[in-house]
Amino acid sequence: MEDFENNHAQDLDSETIFIVSQTFKALGDPTRIRILNLLFTKECSVNEIAETLDIRQSTVSHQLRFLKNLRLVKYRREGTSLYYSHDDEHVMLILKQMIDHACHS
Ligand SMILES: [Zn+2]
Repeated sequence: MEDFENNHAQDLDSETIFIVSQTFKALGDPTRIRILNLLFTKECSVNEIAETLDIRQSTVSHQLRFLKNLRLVKYRREGTSLYYSHDDEHVMLILKQMIDHACHS
């Protein structure tokens, strides 16, 4: 854990603090947790996300924009559809840890 201590011994600059707090905010919403969890396993179109999670498509699009702004998801265009996938291993690892934490006794 020496690396961890060395990297974090000093105070954080304000931009880093802002990004960290925004990222926790991103993970602090039930719909966004479900979307990211789905994108853990596979790339999905907006429609697929909406159908799988039974959430309105406009809500899914809204949340995906939020996640995209934080660079937690990315998309590629195929025809008229956008296919989303996760875009950050760090944050997905944190989400997985949180889910494991919620599930252990
Ligand atoms: Zn735990």
